[in-house]
Amino acid sequence: MVEILLIIFVFALGTCIGSFLNVVIYRMPRDESIAWPPSHCPSCGRHIRWYDNIPILSWLALRGRCRYCKTSISAQYIIVELVTGLLVVGLYAAYFIERVRVLGLGINDRAGPAQLNILTAWPMFIAHAALVCGLLACAVVDWRHYIVPLPVMWTVALVGVAAAAFRPHPFLAQGTAGQAAVAVAACVGLLISLYAVRAGLLRPSFLEVPDRPVGLDEDERPRSQPRRRAGDRPNRLPEADGHDPQARPQQRRKEQRQSVGATADDGISPRREVLREVLFLLPAAVLAMAAWALLHYVPAANAWWSGWFDPARHPVLGPRVAAVGGSVFGFLIGGLWIWGLRIVATLAAGREAMGMGDVHILAGVGAVAGWVVPSLVFFAAPVSGVAVALYLFLTRRQRELPYGPWLAIGTVLVLLLYDVLVRFVEPGATGLVRLLSG
Ligand SMILES: [Zn+2]
Repeated sequence: MVEILLIIFVFALGTCIGSFLNVVIYRMPRDESIAWPPSHCPSCGRHIRWYDNIPILSWLALRGRCRYCKTSISAQYIIVELVTGLLVVGLYAAYFIERVRVLGLGINDRAGPAQLNILTAWPMFIAHAALVCGLLACAVVDWRHYIVPLPVMWTVALVGVAAAAFRPHPFLAQGTAGQAAVAVAACVGLLISLYAVRAGLLRPSFLEVPDRPVGLDEDERPRSQPRRRAGDRPNRLPEADGHDPQARPQQRRKEQRQSVGATADDGISPRREVLREVLFLLPAAVLAMAAWALLHYVPAANAWWSGWFDPARHPVLGPRVAAVGGSVFGFLIGGLWIWGLRIVATLAAGREAMGMGDVHILAGVGAVAGWVVPSLVFFAAPVSGVAVALYLFLTRRQRELPYGPWLAIGTVLVLLLYDVLVRFVEPGATGLVRLLSG
């Protein structure tokens, strides 16, 4: 009985999150605030009352029309609410009722979350639910507009780190001292690079400049430009979106100047631009290697650093430090897989491969689930669509598929099939763990 009530509660909560996702999906590509103004009808602009804003039920009661102007409300609203509710309740059932996952703590641990209980594991469940919901929002926006709303994945990543810090849980691989050191050093390096870009010392890559979201009507396009570093989608067919760079060079040039303060208007070479991204990543790579070398060759530093992870010395802090280390390490590894593929493939082919939005998606996955899950998503190519993306890229098909939905589906499958996949890839992965943890 309690179980049924809990399931109904989780489903209702999921539909409410879905209702919020609808706001995100509608407003973020239009560069509008998701907090203000409150819900209003996009057609007549009238404020939507709370009783007309109840997930699923209100849409059905109004028969999909605005109460005031009778303009039809897209079925996407009720579908997203329903799918979010089902996803969240499905995740709950899979983890806590069906217990599809027995293995915990990454690859080497066999203790497993046998006693997994919602009363103790709820921070983990919130993080995983946030991940699944964030992926749904990214998938829909990417599918419709060819951009990934990056703040969604940043929020997901923060929830992942917070959940790890609040209560370390068995579905997040605990970071070793070595992984945490590398992760902290790399983050410092990324912050240095971000500061250098902000201070104008390092010029950002043109490839990172987002295309304008596709599929919005001319009059409802944002007047301000989408934020820099919003996920982009390269290589679209001109006729697919109607604002091809060649077709409207002037507009394109203006956009670039506005968004990055660029001096060169044309003659953008993808190879040269992606090398800028290598430069951006350089401080992180150097610092990460320095941290690794420090732990490896200076025993005193190693002893001091590892002490923080020792549960015997820090019973409260130790596991939390390790969990946060695992989360941040996962964030970096997840992002690095796709950013690495993007750099290598762009250098090799002279055309832009993969978008920065995809980098942020897998980084968010890693922050919630640890480094193993995004690696499985990346390498389980038939599941995640990496194979499809590579095929389309190599065969020079001009129009690229929105890749966010693939990554989202791949991630959900990997979360559920984790045990099976880990047993399958374990021999190779254990070697990789040793390599990475030094
Ligand atoms: Zn209306």
